[in-house]
Amino acid sequence: MIDTKITLPESEIPTHFYNIVPDLPTPLPPPLHPGTREPIGPEMLAPIFPMGLIAQEVSQSPAVEIPDEVRQLYRLYRPSPVFRARAFEAVVDTPAHIYYKSEHVSPVGSHKLNTALVQAYANKQEGVKRLATETGAGQWGSALACACRLMGLECMVYMVKVSYEQKPYRRIMMKSYGADVVASPSTLTEAGRRVLAESPDSPGSLGIAISEAIEDAAKRDDTKYALGSVLNHVLLHQTIIGQEAKKQMELAGEYPDLVVGCHGGGSNFAGLAFPFLRDKLKGRRKGLRAIAVEPSACPSLTAGRREYDFGDTAGTTPLMMMHTLGHGFIPAPVHAGGLRYHGSAPLVSHLLAEGLIEAEAYAQGEVFESALMFARSEGTIPAPESAHAIHSVVQHALKARASNERTVILFNLSGHGIFDLSAYDAFLSGKMAMMA
Ligand SMILES: *Cc1c(COP(=O)(O)O)cnc(C)c1O
Repeated sequence: MIDTKITLPESEIPTHFYNIVPDLPTPLPPPLHPGTREPIGPEMLAPIFPMGLIAQEVSQSPAVEIPDEVRQLYRLYRPSPVFRARAFEAVVDTPAHIYYKSEHVSPVGSHKLNTALVQAYANKQEGVKRLATETGAGQWGSALACACRLMGLECMVYMVKVSYEQKPYRRIMMKSYGADVVASPSTLTEAGRRVLAESPDSPGSLGIAISEAIEDAAKRDDTKYALGSVLNHVLLHQTIIGQEAKKQMELAGEYPDLVVGCHGGGSNFAGLAFPFLRDKLKGRRKGLRAIAVEPSACPSLTAGRREYDFGDTAGTTPLMMMHTLGHGFIPAPVHAGGLRYHGSAPLVSHLLAEGLIEAEAYAQGEVFESALMFARSEGTIPAPESAHAIHSVVQHALKARASNERTVILFNLSGHGIFDLSAYDAFLSGKMAMMA
């Protein structure tokens, strides 16, 4: 019998990030300047991102080396284990073999630290002293706050005001790492002051917080901006997840038929799936299915159109070719805050358009039912975001039972739900909008 927990030694932490771009069957449409609609050059990004990350954003090399200092810090929690979810298989009552990659074991409880560490490092290399960012519920903000502290940078987080007030624990976490956290809209920026002048009681939005963080970075010489998903370089950093998982599946003696990840901006899905998709693109695993799972409240992949759109609500970023619901789309306030993004990563959108990956959408009520089934069998309370992947896995495991197939499924447990217990409370006490 193979182990329940499949671990790798620290020496197996990947040395390179896997870049899927040169393996794509057709070229990725470039980001465009919103005024001229011409492809943007590095000079448009240079005021807010360091050159090292801009180079990764447009890199055509198949592999990008991971700096030693970053690999040293990865040792705090990597390689992360893969588990065979035997107890979960038993409650789902399926012949499928279900495995999960456990990104919730990072110090901040999600995969986001994987990219935060690289971004903090790349900025430090270029003499940047301080990073500014936005955060909704606080997952990205706490990852960047942790990474900045470990790399010796200052961190400024604009946190959407309604979350700042209603979700104190992530805010306290960021402050524990020494970050400055303000409720957005704030009086610190023009963008914030403009909103406050019009509506002093504004609850804030991710779009406003992004505008504040970008303005902060653009105005100060010592400061750059950092983004936790969507961009090519962020997805690139997350590919350490799938590279490790491939070795772990090899140790288990199996290769997945299905690779599943939840989808907000696309980074944890891409991180797990891209190294496996490489086998499919090279013709070695033609039957591999990769599935991105989103909430039906924000169905950018399953119901959005693929077109050029802004990355932020305020319309200040370059235009990106992606599946989008429109940058003005405001999703229902579902508990999986990390999945409430109107667009999707251009790379994930491109693969979907090419028919190389699939997408599914589920309502939060059914998602939480599967989340509890998982928590009560495997012990870990999943993040509401990750629970979308779990619910998809249940659907495919039930199909495997119906057809009596020994399907091998691997999914990404992108984070734990210990900071999302109010969502579980709403579900358990019958107060959740189940069909949202
Ligand atoms: C932020 C977040 C997500 C969604 O972002 P992606 O870029 O799509 O991965 C998913 N799960 C968790 C735990 C998150 O914190």
